[in-house]
Amino acid sequence: MQSQILRVAVFAPIRRLFDYLSPEEGMVVAGMRVRVPFGRSYRIGMVTGLVEQTELDPGRLKAVAEVLDLEPLLRGDDIDFLSWVASYYQHPPGEVFASALPVLLRLGETTPSDHLAGWRLTGQGRLADVAQLSRAPKQAGLLAVIGRHPGGISQVDLSAEYGNCRPLLLALQEKGLIEAVQLRPSLPEMTPVPAPLLNGEQAGAVEAISAAMGFHTFLLDGITGSGKTEVYLEAARRVLQQHRQVLVLVPEIALTPQTTHRFAQRLGITPLLLHSGLTDKERALAWTLASQGKVGLLLGTRSAVLTPLPGLGLVIVDEEHDLSFKQQEGVRYSARDLAILRARRADCPVVIGSATPSLESLHNVEAGRYKGLRLTQRAGSALPPDMRLVDIRSAPLEAGMSRALLHEIKQTLDQGDQALLFLNRRGFAPVLMCHDCGWFAQCPHCDARMTVHFQDAGLWCHHCGYFQRFPSQCPSCQGLRLATLGQGTEQVETALKTLFPSHSVARIDRDSTRRKGTLQQLLEQARQGKHALLLGTQMLAKGHDFPNLTLVGILDVDQGLFGADFRATERMAQLIVQVAGRAGRADKPGRVLIQTRHADHPLLNLLIGRGYPAFASEMLAERQAAALPPFSHQVMLRAESAIPGEAEKFLRQAAQLGREQATPGVEIWGPAPAPMERRAGRFRYQLLIQSANRSQLHRYLGRWLQAIEGVKTGHRLRWSIDVDPQEML
Ligand code: ADP
Ligand code: ZN
Ligand code: ZN
Repeated sequence: MQSQILRVAVFAPIRRLFDYLSPEEGMVVAGMRVRVPFGRSYRIGMVTGLVEQTELDPGRLKAVAEVLDLEPLLRGDDIDFLSWVASYYQHPPGEVFASALPVLLRLGETTPSDHLAGWRLTGQGRLADVAQLSRAPKQAGLLAVIGRHPGGISQVDLSAEYGNCRPLLLALQEKGLIEAVQLRPSLPEMTPVPAPLLNGEQAGAVEAISAAMGFHTFLLDGITGSGKTEVYLEAARRVLQQHRQVLVLVPEIALTPQTTHRFAQRLGITPLLLHSGLTDKERALAWTLASQGKVGLLLGTRSAVLTPLPGLGLVIVDEEHDLSFKQQEGVRYSARDLAILRARRADCPVVIGSATPSLESLHNVEAGRYKGLRLTQRAGSALPPDMRLVDIRSAPLEAGMSRALLHEIKQTLDQGDQALLFLNRRGFAPVLMCHDCGWFAQCPHCDARMTVHFQDAGLWCHHCGYFQRFPSQCPSCQGLRLATLGQGTEQVETALKTLFPSHSVARIDRDSTRRKGTLQQLLEQARQGKHALLLGTQMLAKGHDFPNLTLVGILDVDQGLFGADFRATERMAQLIVQVAGRAGRADKPGRVLIQTRHADHPLLNLLIGRGYPAFASEMLAERQAAALPPFSHQVMLRAESAIPGEAEKFLRQAAQLGREQATPGVEIWGPAPAPMERRAGRFRYQLLIQSANRSQLHRYLGRWLQAIEGVKTGHRLRWSIDVDPQEML
C-alpha cells in the first residue's frame, strides 16, 4: 500500500511546516499528533494536512515514528484558524499549534479519560461531628462544601475555588470522612437564580445580540455598574438553550471569582474554567471536554481563546480594553482580536464589553465595523460618583496623602462606610538614597532603581527579581543617613494604621497576596465589611463590588501622564474610571479624589469634567493627527543580548534589509534602545515598522522575516516579532 505525505507543524521554533511519510495509508488524518524524527532527535508535531506533492525528493522523506492519536484532536476549522494565527502573528506554526494544546497533550500524552476525579462524603463523613475537626478549620470547611454535593464534587471545581487543597483532601480521606469517586463529565446542574428585570437599554442590547444572524461584533459600552454582566448572562442563556457553546473571556479569573459565581447561579450550570491556576491534568481534561463539545460554557482567560469549540454560538469578552488579553511572550496574540476572528469563523455574534473601551474598538464602531451598544445608566438607582482633582503640588503630604484626602477618609469612616485607596506601586518606597553623597540604590542588572521593602528587610528589583538585604550604610560614602523617597502601598498601610487605629486596613497587592487563597479571603472579608480601609494596586481596580464603599482616593495619577508609551494616557484614563467605578451604590453616592501635581492637565480635566467618551474622542483625534494606531498598524521587532551592542547591530542589519525591499507606505523607525535599555542583564533594542495598510504591511513582513532569518548575528541573540504591539517596552 502506498504511504501518504503528511504536512506537519513540528513543535519547534522554526517558521515553516515539514513533510513526512505516513506509516500506512488511511491511518493518519489532519488534526492528529505524530512523533517525528527531527534533527538528531524526535519531536512531536500536529498533522495539518495530507499533500500530494512535496518540494523535497519524495525518496528522501522520513517516515513518522509514531502516531499519537486514534482520533483527530483538531478539526479542519481549528487547523485553519491556528494556521491563520501563525501567519498573522508571524510566528513559527509548530509553536502556535503547541500553545493551543494543554501542556500534557503538547508533551505527547494521551487525551484524558472524560471521567472527572472527585470526592464525596463517606457514611462516616455524613455523620461526622464538625467539632471533631475544630483544630483543623480548613478541613472542616472543605468537608462542609463536599457535604453540599451528595453526588460528589470534582477535584477541578474544588481547586478552582480553594486552590491547592489536595493535602487537606488526603487528610480527610485518611480520617475516613471522604472517598474518591469518578464523576460523569456532565457538569452539575442547578436551579438557576432568576434574573432581575432588565431595563430598556439592557433589553435592547440583548435583543440586538440575539437577533444577529451569524457573525456580528458588538461593543457593549456601559459605565461601571450599568449591568453589562446581566446582558452577557441573558445572551448566553439563550444560546445555551439552543445547545450551542458559549466562550467567555475575562482578564483574570482569580481576581473576579464573583463573575464565575454569577454565571453558575444564573445559568444553572457550572462553567468549565480554563486558566493558569489549574493543574496540568485539570487543564487537559477541561480542554478535552470543551473540544469534544461536551460542555456548554467555557469561561477562561486569554489562552482559552485557542480552545477548539465545535458548537460555538456566542463569544463574550469582558473588559475588552484590558492589557492582559495581549500575550506578551511566545505567540504575541491578542485574545480579544482572536475572539472576534473565531466568531467570524463560527459565524456567530461576539460581544466585547467595557466601561472604558479601547480606542481601537471605539474607532471600529465609528468605522461601522462593530455595532455599538450603550448602557448609560447605573442599574437600580445608583448615581455615578462625583470626581474631583486634588492639587498636591505644594501641599503637605502624609505618606503621600493630602489633608483633603485624609479629611474625606475620616468622614467616610465616621459614617461607617468604606474607603478605597489606590496606588499602583507596591513596596515601601520606590527609591533609597544617601543624604550625604546622593547615591541611589540601583539594580546591578537593570537600568532601574531598587524598591524598598521593609517587610522583607531588603530591596527588590521589580524588573528582574533581584533581592538584596537592606544596607546598614551607604555603599558609596559609608554615611549612615539613608532615606527613602516616595511611597508604596506598604508605607501607606503603615500610615493608615497609625492615623486610623480603630479601623482595619486590608492591603491588596502582589506582596500581600503571595500565599494562595489570601486574595480571595481578603476580598471576601472586604465585601463583608470587615475592613473599613482598602488599599491596593491594579489588583483592586478590577470589577469588585464592595457594598459600603463610598470614597475612592487615587494617590498618584501622574505616572500615566507623561509616559514613554503613547498609550500611557489612555491606560491612565481607563484605570481612573475603573477605580472610580468602585465607589457608590444604590442609596450611597460615591466620591472620588484624584491627587495630581498637574491639576491643569487638559486631558485629565476633560476626563473628569466630561467623562470617558469625550476623553476618548479627543484621544482618537490626536492619534489620527499623529497617524498612530488605530489609524495605522504597527509591528515591533525586538532584540536583546547580554553583550552590549549586539542587539543594536542585529536590528541595524534587519533595518537595512527592510529598507532594501522598501515598499511605499511602509515605514521603519529605529533601531532605538528600549525605554529600559538594560533589564536582567540584557541590552534591549527595538525597531518599529508602521503602515496605514494592513495587508501591505503583512505581505512585506513575510518577505522581510525570511531575509532576517538569514542574518548570522540573529542566531546569537534573542529576537521576537510583535504584531499590533500594545506596549512600547
Ligand atoms: P457591570 O457588569 O456593567 O459592572 P453588573 O451587571 O455587575 O454591571 O451590575 C451591577 C449591579 O447591578 C449588580 O449587582 C447587578 O446584579 C445589578 N443589576 C444589573 N442589572 C439590573 C437590573 N436590570 N435590575 C436590578 N439590578 C440590576
Ligand atoms: Zn553616601
Ligand atoms: Zn533588576
